[in-house]
Amino acid sequence: MVDRCYDYAQAAKSAGRRIVGIMCEFTPREIILAAHAVPVCLCGGSAATIPVAEQVLPTNVCPLIKSTFGYHLTGKNPFLEWADLVVAETTCDGKKKMFELLGVTRPMYVLELPQKAEDTEALERWTKEVRKFAAHLEARWGVQITPEDLHRAIRVMNRERRLRRGLADLMRRDPPPLTGRQLLEFKSIISGIESDLRHYEATLHVLADRSGTPPSVSNGPTRVLLTGVPLVHGAERVLELVEEAGAVVVAMENCTGLKPILEDVDEHDPDPIRAIARKYYHLPCSVMTPNTHRFRVLRELVTRFRPHCVIELVWQACLTYDIEASQVRRFAEEELRLPYLKITTDYAPADSARITARVEALFETVRAHRRAEGC
Ligand code: SF4
Ligand code: SF4
Repeated sequence: MVDRCYDYAQAAKSAGRRIVGIMCEFTPREIILAAHAVPVCLCGGSAATIPVAEQVLPTNVCPLIKSTFGYHLTGKNPFLEWADLVVAETTCDGKKKMFELLGVTRPMYVLELPQKAEDTEALERWTKEVRKFAAHLEARWGVQITPEDLHRAIRVMNRERRLRRGLADLMRRDPPPLTGRQLLEFKSIISGIESDLRHYEATLHVLADRSGTPPSVSNGPTRVLLTGVPLVHGAERVLELVEEAGAVVVAMENCTGLKPILEDVDEHDPDPIRAIARKYYHLPCSVMTPNTHRFRVLRELVTRFRPHCVIELVWQACLTYDIEASQVRRFAEEELRLPYLKITTDYAPADSARITARVEALFETVRAHRRAEGC
């Protein structure tokens, strides 16, 4: 799917559609689709573009930010080069300040994200921001975003989320019919492509009868719930190391996994922009405060996917996830009664052996627990 995105975006661009680069799951893709443009994820997952980024950015910035910025400096991401607009949000400080540098030479629009997750006035402000964004696209490109356009975009995105949830749900089986790494391949960096949606449907059909016994007792591989930062395309190393150590990642509570697809936009709300804003504002990202919704989600995922342990991935210098990790550890160990491991790393493979050793030690603990409990 990711490979085919190049041809799709090139054809769309030649046909006169605008390309909009996005870099965060708070970006309301429905608004971009309703403006007849193509939303493309620009998050960098390559270690190769980091050294050039470090000539401008401090080294002590998360690899996702550095890699993305490195693509900007080298011009090596064709989607960024094609972008008629880049949309950013005020999320973490590193991203926010990197966007300023990127915006010097790229067309940029910044959405201001309020960060008090449970404050109704904050949600109202965010809803206004999303309306302002839609009005900006209309004025910028002389297009009209009609309620029908919005409803059509909402239906497409809801269908995409529903299908991706269906694929993720396959991992509830014991044993699951896919590895976590295979599941992660079912993604596209462009949202709402009809052939991708049909591909998801076909896969669900093929795997519908694939064996896998009912939940409960099993002496199969260790089931892992992975939480923390996104595993953007090209930066899947830690997931691979975890599964090479004999486990299967059955649930990914991160922005490249379940986090953005757990909730749909209400198709029946007479105010579609309000419905879109509400769905996106519920995203349990660590930039929000307090981020209590994340703990509700973790509890629900543990019930649904029955992991034996929790592994948290934190990109180096990602302060929000790193600080929140102490709460996640306490929650996993004391409330969910699951062994927990935090892995802090970047895109370079230098620490792979060390990560494998720590993961194997965690799995030994898990096996001891399971032996003691007879499962
Ligand atoms: S983790 Fe937070 S800041 Fe990063 S992409 Fe997800 S929502 Fe955006
Ligand atoms: S991983 Fe952390 S520091 Fe990096 S962009 Fe996401 S929230 Fe910001």
